[in-house]
Amino acid sequence: MSVVRIEHVYKDYQLGEQTVQALHDITWSIDAGVFLAISGPSGSGKTTLLNLIGCIDKPTRGKIFINEDDVSEKSANELADLRARSIGFVFQTFNLLPVLSAAENVEYPLLRRADISPDERKARVNYFLDIVGLGKFANHRPNQLSGGQRQRVAIARALAIKPSIVLADEPTANLDKATGREILSLMKQINRRLKTTFIFSTHDQKVIDRADRLVQMEDGYITAFGVRNETDKSWNLARVRTLPESENE
Ligand code: ADP
Ligand code: MG
Repeated sequence: MSVVRIEHVYKDYQLGEQTVQALHDITWSIDAGVFLAISGPSGSGKTTLLNLIGCIDKPTRGKIFINEDDVSEKSANELADLRARSIGFVFQTFNLLPVLSAAENVEYPLLRRADISPDERKARVNYFLDIVGLGKFANHRPNQLSGGQRQRVAIARALAIKPSIVLADEPTANLDKATGREILSLMKQINRRLKTTFIFSTHDQKVIDRADRLVQMEDGYITAFGVRNETDKSWNLARVRTLPESENE
């Protein structure tokens, strides 16, 4: 089953008089359970695409389905509800609340879920802090944690709602290389163990090579889809388009 299906999606931004075409005619579907990288240079549309998949923003044209549910026509309230149940977010700059402890940060997205009891909330906080290896740091504030530990808290927070999808926008960009590798390994372990779909953006080839599916973007177009060969780890790339002449110059 497709966890995300995108049909002829366009996204324009209005900057004063100017229209910026950030995404052009994106059609794509993502299988449940994949560990998928969106790669492309800065400005190619990675964040825009993740924001649309995450229902943080709406396409200018086209349709997006999350778990086969058409989100294009939903109200802001319905989208907030869908995000609170189905989508976990991890950001480049961690985005933890500085006045809350690690445990309280993980608990935070659960507070708007009336269906989850206080006991269940506590149980999930402990479970997911353990999964990311921070059981002993539950009471630490973000400024008492390293960058890698902060990103682990952010991953636990994303997982606490038991989402079907975790979206991570350049999750390793603010980490040193070794820590970035650890975070990728952790995400992959979780992907394998909990079957959570991970979609992350990056422009780091080392990070791309940890994925098992790949989408390459350039100037708002998808230019290739990749599947990694599990035996020799090479990428099997299917190019889907070349850029229009004017954009190649
Ligand atoms: P990436 O994440 O790959 O760096 P983005 O999705 O952030 O790319 O940006 C894609 C294009 O859309 C860029 O040209 C960028 O300048 C433009 N863009 C992104 N967000 C906005 C915005 N809020 N208003 C206007 N233009 C934007
Ligand atoms: Mg970006």
